[in-house]
Amino acid sequence: MSKHMPQRQVRCYHCGHALQVGERALTTMCTHCYRGLRVDDVVIRGKESFAAVQTCGMVIIHRKARVLANVVQASMGVQVEGALRGDVISGGPVLIGAKAVWKGGCRAPSLHIQDGASVGGGWFEITPDVRFGDPAIVDKPLQTPKSMPEPGPEPVRDLREYIRTLPIRQTARDNEQLSTRTG
Ligand SMILES: [Zn+2]
Repeated sequence: MSKHMPQRQVRCYHCGHALQVGERALTTMCTHCYRGLRVDDVVIRGKESFAAVQTCGMVIIHRKARVLANVVQASMGVQVEGALRGDVISGGPVLIGAKAVWKGGCRAPSLHIQDGASVGGGWFEITPDVRFGDPAIVDKPLQTPKSMPEPGPEPVRDLREYIRTLPIRQTARDNEQLSTRTG
């Protein structure tokens, strides 16, 4: 191994430990929990089912992909443009695209849902302190749903309408009026 091989930092999706890997590495072993790790980005374009999709990189689910997974774990982030049924644990931002159909839970530091996306069926825990190897999620028995997730037609929630009903929006509006009145 060359001493001068460029390194980058990744986080173990089992235990959250940060470690260095070669820039072009595809797999490595965690120096803390000693489990094998995939470190490259995972791009899914077709109809596929998995027990687990796990990587220290990103998971990208393309527009035409239909993915069934017990758990999706990505240390860098998850982008869903197609259909996904499964629980997601992400160490980076989660993006749900405008034509995505999402069913499942999500634990991530941030969640971005574009207008038009269909989102349902899970718990959402948005926190800067993402716990990776949560046995309640990762080691649960395999689900065997009868069918793969289908991309639309699904009832699309009008996000703007929904946002209008949120108390936080109301508060923002009150503050706005207040500052208008005082200013
Ligand atoms: Zn580890």
